Amino acid sequence: MDEFDLIEQYFRKGVRPRDDVLCGIGDDAAIVSMPEGQRLVIASDSLIAGTHFPDQTPAHALGYRCMAVNLSDLAAMAAQPLWATLALSLPEPDADWLEAFAEGFFESAAGADVALIGGDTVRGPLSMTVTAHGCVEEGRHVTRTGAAIGDRIYVTGTVGDARAGLDVLLQKRSKSASNDKLLHRFLYPSPRVTPGRQLAGVATAMIDVSDGLHDDLGKLLHASGFGADLELALLPISEELLQFAGADAAVGIALSGGDDYELCFTISPDHESQLERLVEHWDCSATCIGEVSGEMEARWWHNGELHAVAGPAFSHF
Ligand code: ADP
Ligand code: MG
Repeated sequence: MDEFDLIEQYFRKGVRPRDDVLCGIGDDAAIVSMPEGQRLVIASDSLIAGTHFPDQTPAHALGYRCMAVNLSDLAAMAAQPLWATLALSLPEPDADWLEAFAEGFFESAAGADVALIGGDTVRGPLSMTVTAHGCVEEGRHVTRTGAAIGDRIYVTGTVGDARAGLDVLLQKRSKSASNDKLLHRFLYPSPRVTPGRQLAGVATAMIDVSDGLHDDLGKLLHASGFGADLELALLPISEELLQFAGADAAVGIALSGGDDYELCFTISPDHESQLERLVEHWDCSATCIGEVSGEMEARWWHNGELHAVAGPAFSHF
């Protein structure tokens, strides 16, 4: 199988056509037409074998995941995903692996109506880089920098599940229906595309949670130039994670575990009732965990006492 056959068979065939793709896979570069009055938003994320996923990760999940993590980055800017390119480095062209990978990739892309418009395929250590393109109405994008003192801090879904799921994948934990759900959360992240879109012009700042809630919220706060007061008891923790780790350890995992791809955002208290109405249309919850403060640090409180976050030094301040 040469490079051309591989692209034709596994990637070009699966593409969902979009009217705004004037020239897709098959030429030297892609040509697309931008919607009127919209800004282009671009995100690029790589998954490298051994660094971002263990060897036993199934090809289907890798395909799904490399698209999903980029959709999550676009969501965090309140952007509508449109197109993507895929740069794939493979040790060898294994037909079964490619078939499963492409299936997972297109499943994730279809979920957000994204068209694959190009890429590159080379021989080398297993890695994949997706660059996703999206758009947002002029002036309605959300960055990490807009949080203000008194803004409420929210996080979608539940946090910590994916970190526990990684342990299940590494077979540090036995199989069970509950642990399977955690594993699924690691292998198949649900990028919060609809929530991200609907928060355009509503959230004052936003970030997706890929490195862990405490870390990523720290980046948002640092970019905005503020700190926060947060309540441990408010953390959205799943039943599955509680069962997996017990109540105490679950809190630590929820604070520091990565790969959840939830959205963490801030909104002005004036917009809370608007948010409540929006959340009714989401397939995930949004939980208020605290408030932006003038202190230059994120302080987690438990029963009125300060809680020191365990794990790697918090270096953002
Ligand atoms: P060139 O040599 O001009 O860069 P290539 O032969 O590398 O072109 O690629 C041929 C076409 O296939 C291009 O349109 C490129 O974008 C596309 N392509 C290559 N690899 C992939 C891939 N993994 N997924 C999607 N499109 C790809
Ligand atoms: Mg060329």
